[in-house]
Amino acid sequence: MKKLPLMRSCKEVSALVIAREDRQLPMTEQLALRMHMAICKACPAFERQVLTMRNAMKQWRHYGSDE
Ligand SMILES: [Zn+2]
Repeated sequence: MKKLPLMRSCKEVSALVIAREDRQLPMTEQLALRMHMAICKACPAFERQVLTMRNAMKQWRHYGSDE
């Protein structure tokens, strides 16, 4: 059976979540990411952690720029 082109492993998805912080993902990768998030429990939790971290970094940078 042919492997579905949009299927990604958890390892690949976590790499995409991190890559997305730096660059715009291609449409297919965004779709693959969303599909995986719908069927996986671990990756949405990981994504939340990355988002929380990003917000913390943003605030930290903001404080730094005030000085
Ligand atoms: Zn996963």
